[in-house]
Amino acid sequence: MEFSQLQSTTAICPSLFNATSAQDGILSRMRLPAGLITFKQCEVVAKLTNQFGNGEIQITNRANLQIRTSQALSFDTLLDLQDYRLASSEASTDGLRNIMASPTAGIDPRALINTIPLVKQWNFYLANHPELEILSNKFSVCFDGGETISVSDRPNDICFKAVEINGAIYFSLYLGIGDRGDSPSAVGRLIYSKQNLEVLAALTEVYRDYTEQKLNQTNSCTRPPRLRELIRAWGVEHYLLLVEQKLGYALRRSSLELLSQESGTRVAYKHLGIHAQSQSGLAYIGVVIPLGRLTALQFQGLGDLASQYGGGALRLTPWQNILITDIVEAQVEQLTREIKGLGISVSTNHPYAAIAACSGYKGCKAAFTDTQADAKKVAAHLENCIKLDLPINIHFSGCDKSCAQHHPSDIALVGIQGKEKKSPEAYRVYVGDGNTNFGKELYTECAAQDIPNLIAQLLKTYQNQRRDFTQTFREFVNQQS
Ligand code: SF4
Repeated sequence: MEFSQLQSTTAICPSLFNATSAQDGILSRMRLPAGLITFKQCEVVAKLTNQFGNGEIQITNRANLQIRTSQALSFDTLLDLQDYRLASSEASTDGLRNIMASPTAGIDPRALINTIPLVKQWNFYLANHPELEILSNKFSVCFDGGETISVSDRPNDICFKAVEINGAIYFSLYLGIGDRGDSPSAVGRLIYSKQNLEVLAALTEVYRDYTEQKLNQTNSCTRPPRLRELIRAWGVEHYLLLVEQKLGYALRRSSLELLSQESGTRVAYKHLGIHAQSQSGLAYIGVVIPLGRLTALQFQGLGDLASQYGGGALRLTPWQNILITDIVEAQVEQLTREIKGLGISVSTNHPYAAIAACSGYKGCKAAFTDTQADAKKVAAHLENCIKLDLPINIHFSGCDKSCAQHHPSDIALVGIQGKEKKSPEAYRVYVGDGNTNFGKELYTECAAQDIPNLIAQLLKTYQNQRRDFTQTFREFVNQQS
């Protein structure tokens, strides 16, 4: 059999055409713009996973799909994936980061604009501009249509967020100007929706010019620069000036104060459970996927249910779960039963609903701990000993880079090298808000095997001593001195 999939042990972001080797197999990532996957594509991925992989599918925090196989995918398999639109038609741009949109784009009653057509057009643009292959494969673009499930705070290089100003809808331009993992910031420019793609193309072209310049410089590093490096070197205003020169017109300016008033607030956990759509009589269900991992059988089962009860497609979310949409309200109950029949919960209070973990040492050399296994032990323990009545966000990070989650959590566990010889795997424990990125430090070191009991104890104390049933864990721990 002929194999064509390149394998890298150094590439940080795997793709289909440039898989990476991890301790638990060869990792291939499928880009699914806006996280959309049809039931037919689900069938193909499930078959592929069963045939060549370990039977498990993973959803990433950019709503990609990841599979682990024991050997590289063959040339024929990659061609098949292209036929089913699971691989980019251009291998060279397949590695660029997935295009992000709210998982409720086009169905959210609060949305100002449906961003799915923009995602498709930008994906088409990328496929037809192979010269963009020189960009950093971390180059990331996001469209936020003003949905309740906002994605404008997700780390992205460029984000367009719909805003309504004096009755007109614009996109406010956000750029990733902070550190790794930071949310992008509004830069005081408003874009008309019909100009959105040409502005995005110009932003990308200027970035490409900069990348080419850097790569051609002698003595320069061979790694393509990130967009934030360009912004640090030039400043936002100079970058936008060059973009405007390419466009041949000036972008409309707006005060940041006005833009911050217009940007709505995110409602937590709307990506889980049952919710009404903007289309009358239709609903969507967000299902809990433990640590973003499910079996090929469950994945295909959900795809089949989407075909039978919904719009024929699943939506993967940046919170590593799945939505089934366009369900006739009268069928929601029956569908919920069938989802549970696959061994999958739809409750926001399930212990897995808000647990996030990076790949840990099975998939990342920087990790001190087996975050995935430790997170599973915590979820299993909580299922047995406590009934949650509000979601609790617990974040396991194998080191302090925090790849799995960039926003603050209720409880954060950061892998460290333990000082005790008998328990070399340990975590630093943080809760609520504090003076570190992870929150307030509660314990400097806790052995990995003691974490399930520790968390159960923390949650029991919270449930017994909270002001009332509406007080969240974060509010409770923040009020403790
Ligand atoms: S947080 Fe650290 S250990 Fe986890 S995947 Fe990122 S770099 Fe690796």
